[in-house]
Amino acid sequence: MADILVFGAHPDDAEFGMGASMVKFVRSGASLTVCVLSRGEAGTFGTAAQREGEMRDAARKLGGGIEILSFLDCQIFDSYESRIKVAEVIRAQRPKLVFAPYHTHVGNHKDGGAHPDHAATGTIVRSATRYARFAGLKDVHGEPWNADHIIYYMVPRSRMPTLLNDVSDYMEEWEGIARCHQSQMSIRDGKIMEFLRAMRGTNGGMISVRYAEGFITDDPIPFDLPLFMRGTPRQPGAPLG
Ligand SMILES: [Zn+2]
Repeated sequence: MADILVFGAHPDDAEFGMGASMVKFVRSGASLTVCVLSRGEAGTFGTAAQREGEMRDAARKLGGGIEILSFLDCQIFDSYESRIKVAEVIRAQRPKLVFAPYHTHVGNHKDGGAHPDHAATGTIVRSATRYARFAGLKDVHGEPWNADHIIYYMVPRSRMPTLLNDVSDYMEEWEGIARCHQSQMSIRDGKIMEFLRAMRGTNGGMISVRYAEGFITDDPIPFDLPLFMRGTPRQPGAPLG
């Protein structure tokens, strides 16, 4: 069981896409499991065995759980069977929050977030989160479970995030965990970490903090006054949050 369940298509997706948020969540006391659909064996760098070792190292450093499904890299497709497999993970983990790569592919094939497996994973997870709660759906093993929210990371560069998580205090620890994916450090001519840090810097600038990770949600988020007032100087009427 985990408060937070993060799906990725490939071993590095969760850590590269929202790893500093994962550190922030776990250090705040939340339990978190990463579920990876494939071992990333079709990637340019690293074998399936090497990449599995890297994701296990990352999970150990984070202090989170890990689950590895048996989809094949580049063969992740939305289907009834795919949804059932993912819904079973949701039923077993019973998370309040589900995270997945953003479900809509952008046109630019050079956008690092535009791997078709990422979009397919987001689409599968969106349906599976719903399937997990249908008591009459007997093909899904486990007790029905209704997660509170599904939130997407790996926001395409052509899209504006709708949620930004301040991760300024977690960047060093995040980098140590992301570097567990050693086979992927040659991406972008060896400048992948520099690139991922710069993206977080740009996101941070949008909310006046040093570093932030960006997300999109299709769900309406309930208005919560203490949440929106937090950080605001309080005088008349205090306390709020
Ligand atoms: Zn990926």
